[in-house]
Amino acid sequence: MNIPFLDLSPVYRESREAIDSALSRVAASGWFLLGKELAAFEEAYAQFCGVKHCAGVANGLDALYLALRALGVGRGDEVVVPSNTYIATWLAVSQCGAVPVPVEPDPATYNIDSSRIESAITARTRVILPVHLYGQPADMDAINALAQRRGLAVLDDCAQAHGARYKGRRVGGLATISAWSFYPGKNLGAMGDGGGVTTSEFSLDDAVRVLRNYGSRQKYLNEVKGCNSRLDEIQAAVLSAKLPMLDATVAQRRSIAARYLDALRGLPLGLPYVPEWAEPAWHLFVVRHRDRQRFQARLAELGIGTLVHYPIAPHRQAAYAELSMGEGSLPIAEAIHREVLSLPIWPGMSEAQVARVIDAVHDACA
Ligand SMILES: *Cc1c(COP(=O)(O)O)cnc(C)c1O
Repeated sequence: MNIPFLDLSPVYRESREAIDSALSRVAASGWFLLGKELAAFEEAYAQFCGVKHCAGVANGLDALYLALRALGVGRGDEVVVPSNTYIATWLAVSQCGAVPVPVEPDPATYNIDSSRIESAITARTRVILPVHLYGQPADMDAINALAQRRGLAVLDDCAQAHGARYKGRRVGGLATISAWSFYPGKNLGAMGDGGGVTTSEFSLDDAVRVLRNYGSRQKYLNEVKGCNSRLDEIQAAVLSAKLPMLDATVAQRRSIAARYLDALRGLPLGLPYVPEWAEPAWHLFVVRHRDRQRFQARLAELGIGTLVHYPIAPHRQAAYAELSMGEGSLPIAEAIHREVLSLPIWPGMSEAQVARVIDAVHDACA
């Protein structure tokens, strides 16, 4: 039995009627941008997150970029980012003309170490940008308290955290403003690219809405240099059809994660650590192995699909050569990037498939 790293078909099968009717409804409407479907999804998703506003945009990278623009970030500013994240977090900062200032993670949670943030703050810092990596919430109370004391805004990258909770509160309503991706493989995925920005501050939501549509509130009147970054009607309708299932799919991920945590204990593997205040969304189930290449190759021989999130840290990418941050400059992030491996975890994975992965991991560790 081969187990793919990810199989999106069970979720489609579960909500097939709702999705297919959403697709044909939009096709028949003849209206494809900035219409009723977008407004309905924005309202539903804001409610899901427990915030006042949601603005749909074209993808997760744009959600981060437009949230930063709405906060007024521009050339010469600095934004504190995790050293251990997907590069999109950094690219959004660079797109604003600002500089990403990396802070190392807590090696237990993989999330930004809140105790290291303050020493990275300078007179040019405008925003702290934590990421809820792998769906595990970052320590938002500590980050918000520091931001308030230093007069900074907090934007959180929620691209992997749909349905996660922090101290009982939903991720998406914990920061000044929050950015989402609805890339197909995310916990709430569209049938193409999609993104969103949630906030309870009217002025920030309004700024994102103007920026996503050419900087225009009224056709052919352009207030600011905006861009074209809209969540189209088809994607909005698909997301509305899938949203009612989100909590149930996260619960399925959680029970698979609980099985893995229980059955893989005691192996020479680093397992995810969950602080008592965290309810992760389990977008990814990430283990650490000292000889990842051999471990991954053995799992592949046994028919288990795995991926590395991520193989190279942003500061070691050619795209950030300008920072001249050599090997060893951010050692915690670099060690994580050398050793992590993501196991299959998706809603609809059968008990037999989970058991098969567990057996294979035991074999590959032997
Ligand atoms: C997926 C992802 C993004 C970017 O989202 P896209 O929709 O692919 O542009 C940003 N940050 C993180 C942490 C992500 O996982």
